[in-house]
Amino acid sequence: MSEEFWSVAVDAPLPQSLTYRSPEALLGLLQRGHRVLIPLGRRKATGVLLSSQTSVAGQAPSKFLVKEILEIETEFQPLPEYFLKWLEWVSQYYQHPIGSVTGLAYPPLSRKVKARASQRAPVVPLMTPDSQPNHSLKLTDEQTAVLSSIQKHDGFNVHLLFGVTGSGKTEVYLQLLKETLEKGHLGLVLVPEISLTPQLIHRFAARFGDQIAVLHSQLTDRERTTQWWDIVEGRKKILIGARSALFCPIENLGLVIVDEEHESSFKQDEKLKYHGRDCAVMLGKFANCPVILGSATPSLESWKNTLDHRYQLHKMSQRVENRSLPTVEIIDMRIKNSANSEIPNWLSPQLFAAMNETLGKQQQVALFLNRRGVAPVVLCPSCGYTHECPNCDISLTLHGSTHLVCHYCDYHEDLKLQCPSCKKGELKPVGLGTELVQSEIERLFPNSIVARADRDEIQNRVELEDLIARMENGEIDILIGTQMIAKGLDFPKLNLVGLILADVGFNLPDFRATERSFQLITQVSGRAGRHIKKGEEPGKVLVQTYNPDHSSLQFTKTADFIGFAKHELADRAALNYPPHGRLISCRIQGLHHEKVQETARLLASRCRYLKGKNPVYAEIEVLGPAPAPLLKIRNQFRYQLLLKGLTSKTLNNFSFQVLGDESWIPAGTRILVDVDPIHLL
Ligand code: ADP
Ligand code: ZN
Repeated sequence: MSEEFWSVAVDAPLPQSLTYRSPEALLGLLQRGHRVLIPLGRRKATGVLLSSQTSVAGQAPSKFLVKEILEIETEFQPLPEYFLKWLEWVSQYYQHPIGSVTGLAYPPLSRKVKARASQRAPVVPLMTPDSQPNHSLKLTDEQTAVLSSIQKHDGFNVHLLFGVTGSGKTEVYLQLLKETLEKGHLGLVLVPEISLTPQLIHRFAARFGDQIAVLHSQLTDRERTTQWWDIVEGRKKILIGARSALFCPIENLGLVIVDEEHESSFKQDEKLKYHGRDCAVMLGKFANCPVILGSATPSLESWKNTLDHRYQLHKMSQRVENRSLPTVEIIDMRIKNSANSEIPNWLSPQLFAAMNETLGKQQQVALFLNRRGVAPVVLCPSCGYTHECPNCDISLTLHGSTHLVCHYCDYHEDLKLQCPSCKKGELKPVGLGTELVQSEIERLFPNSIVARADRDEIQNRVELEDLIARMENGEIDILIGTQMIAKGLDFPKLNLVGLILADVGFNLPDFRATERSFQLITQVSGRAGRHIKKGEEPGKVLVQTYNPDHSSLQFTKTADFIGFAKHELADRAALNYPPHGRLISCRIQGLHHEKVQETARLLASRCRYLKGKNPVYAEIEVLGPAPAPLLKIRNQFRYQLLLKGLTSKTLNNFSFQVLGDESWIPAGTRILVDVDPIHLL
């Protein structure tokens, strides 16, 4: 009698799949993609069947005692083949255990539990009769052209939709989804978590009614489970979600859309360190369906792919209905302020005047600053001591008048005036945060209603929705916010946007700092004057800076993405930074500084040895190890080793050879591999 053995991706932190035997009762019934229950140590675990092997009795494929599969979880259909292949690719490419990856493909709860009546707002907002847009929008010429050129292609193709803010990209998505549904397929739309606002979901729901399912981080496990089943069983046809929605196994997937594809928040930095955009492209490849990437400021990765003709480029350079783009003015803050001592020195007379003018016309103003709190640094003017977090390598931020907070680990303490170092000086807040901007703006504009949108003020979706409604109803005159207000929002009366300090992101030790600044400034600017017709006075953007010659600013002035991309790509070519070459970052981490250093040294010498031994790896550069830009976070010391290569294939093989076997890593330290890292701090 022959026996059947299965390699099972077990949902547990194991580096590899395990082998189990099929019990006689299940012979012939088990299929690749089935979810099964298996014994693991003394407990039971779930796993996904990957591949089988038959052998003659007594010749088990492993010399260890092979345990039996307990049962098939018949609640779930086998995962679709294309989807399982994609999961295997994800596991391999990001060097993450297959069982931990397949584990993401299931809902958090069992659906057998009877749902209690929910007191919460519905996941997909109910439609109101006046909700925009109507079904018979006349497409603009640019929209028509883009649609027909996308429709020329069948099967897998990646399309980069490069359209200025307000050019009507969402309408293109809606049209493509409509066709997808008409063909009997389902659609997946990924957006950054932060732009999953009711404004966006409303637009989809207005067109497709109750065919929409939504997945994001604010749902309860029960809501998430319900949405998951609605898509998996085809009751809903379009799934809109943050990056994790990729892991919903959609049968019959016909279209993948990634909006704001340049957003770095598509990258997950913990556990499975995947990039949602790149995984979406691969998902489309395995499903053999088109993938649409949309942005007003594409990532240089995607841009280069269009230059190399791997992706198709589609441009939309006009705002719909002849609405004008805002004018952008750069204000040099090095030039001293006028004598008006009423105005704080972070506010230029130009911005102050423009605010008065805009408010005078009953229009709205948004002020943007990517820093929370009152002051980012508290220091002693006598001895220069800066007050840092005891757990992290970063200074504490002042909130309110006496509250010090670490923005990395949330450590709190009360501000004590006496300097703990010299015991003579008095600690003083230095610098600027949104909280300080708010209090000074309230003083300067006592008749205006001021609101703030940052993580201290807005802690959940309901609060954000409430704020958006107040902006829409004109209940707010001046909105002050961090990147929370940079994206996706569309307020008809918002005609002036001020960037308080464009320099915040300029000098981070990260080769993408300039790209991020450019994107952020362009996105923020895109909030201004979205509903002003050509011929009328356009919306205004004032950018305050101490570095008016910075390359990210030169190109934002004319909203010249193409010029910026050319400049930045040339800059990166010299050092072969992505998107020219590829990176893998290895972070060495642990509680003891010396042990971490030791592991980092060992890792580096392993890398250099392998590189020297194998000519295939000659092209690979081993950079470091060096202390990470933030040496200590949450009491963990962090070192970094960067691997740079020309192709991801060679680079991934290299890193797998060095780190596939972890037995050499000294106890008490860990090495975290990040393939195509985005955040290098
Ligand atoms: P983007 O996503 O490119 O920033 P949107 O899709 O949000 O642009 O479109 C901007 C605004 O224009 C929205 O209010 C949208 O409803 C409207 N719009 C889009 N396409 C058309 C069209 N063909 N005719 C009229 N209005 C349109
Ligand atoms: Zn801290």
